[in-house]
Amino acid sequence: MSDLAERARRLHARAIVWDAHVCLPLHPDADLGVLRRHLAAGATFVSVNVGMDLNPLPQILTVLASFRAQLRARPDLFVPVDTAEDVVRAKAQGKLAVAFDLEGAIPLCGRPEMVRLFYDLGVRQMHLAYNRNNAVAGGCYDEDVPLSPLGREIVKAIYAAGMFMDVSHTGHRSSLEIMDMGLGPVIFSHANPRALKDDKRNATLEQIRACAATGGVICVNGVGRFLTDPRAGTPAILDAVDWLVERVGPAHVGLGLDYSYPTQGLDDSPPDLDRDYWWPRREGYGSGLTGIRIAAPEQLPEITEGLLARGYAEDDVRRILGENMLALARATWKPTRPQPPASNAPAS
Ligand SMILES: [Zn+2]
Repeated sequence: MSDLAERARRLHARAIVWDAHVCLPLHPDADLGVLRRHLAAGATFVSVNVGMDLNPLPQILTVLASFRAQLRARPDLFVPVDTAEDVVRAKAQGKLAVAFDLEGAIPLCGRPEMVRLFYDLGVRQMHLAYNRNNAVAGGCYDEDVPLSPLGREIVKAIYAAGMFMDVSHTGHRSSLEIMDMGLGPVIFSHANPRALKDDKRNATLEQIRACAATGGVICVNGVGRFLTDPRAGTPAILDAVDWLVERVGPAHVGLGLDYSYPTQGLDDSPPDLDRDYWWPRREGYGSGLTGIRIAAPEQLPEITEGLLARGYAEDDVRRILGENMLALARATWKPTRPQPPASNAPAS
């Protein structure tokens, strides 16, 4: 093994490796055990999607119930995340920390207090609109509309709950308005620079700068159609990291590879799903989502070695791999479980 490969192996094994968005079949029979691949690839934390704007609430709730039960049933493998310290604990114990994310505000049923309910169920990040406009915000493949008054209330509820405010999939104007509210850090959990790949799902330099200005993080997406390489090769991911670091610095860049685990033979499509509406053909989706290549979890160690090979300092590699997102989680996520009293509390 070369010196570089050995240095990369050691760094990767010790680092917090944070994958900000992972997809499994949205079916209660889906087996979370497949996430062993993430653990084997050195991941410390994954955010698992539990629903999009296109999924009915009963589907989202049964998936959440199943995924939560599976996390509890396999303490040898998983640490269900309440706070950032659960991620640190998972690392120390060689386990995978898992939280959930929502893609779109339709599952909130127009009620801002639903944010806190989902938070209590383990959801730690959400964005407001999935590709298409809804009653609260614009989606990236639709008419560019402002946030609605209800959208502003939901943004406030997301910060009040202690959830990550995500703006992936969100329309340009709505995302800038969210960042302009000044309530705290905003993330792109899985998005790439539009300057490298011109797709409305990717972020403009204005959005990227605005995100960094909130103290947020842009997590590079591993979906080939949003990269310069449709095969989602590791060099294209590194190119996206380079581009972002050159503009906003290593403190504002992370990873959200968006890997979709195979369907396990399960059909998770809502019965009346209109693929051409949610993944519009004129935006280049062709026949829906079939045939796209996505970076696999096994590319995580390649990313570490590639960053070192490109001359990144080890501290910066650790930031990009996960410390940026861990720091945000420490600043954002609030415990739902009672916390032990601080040891220096005065006796009463
Ligand atoms: Zn997504």
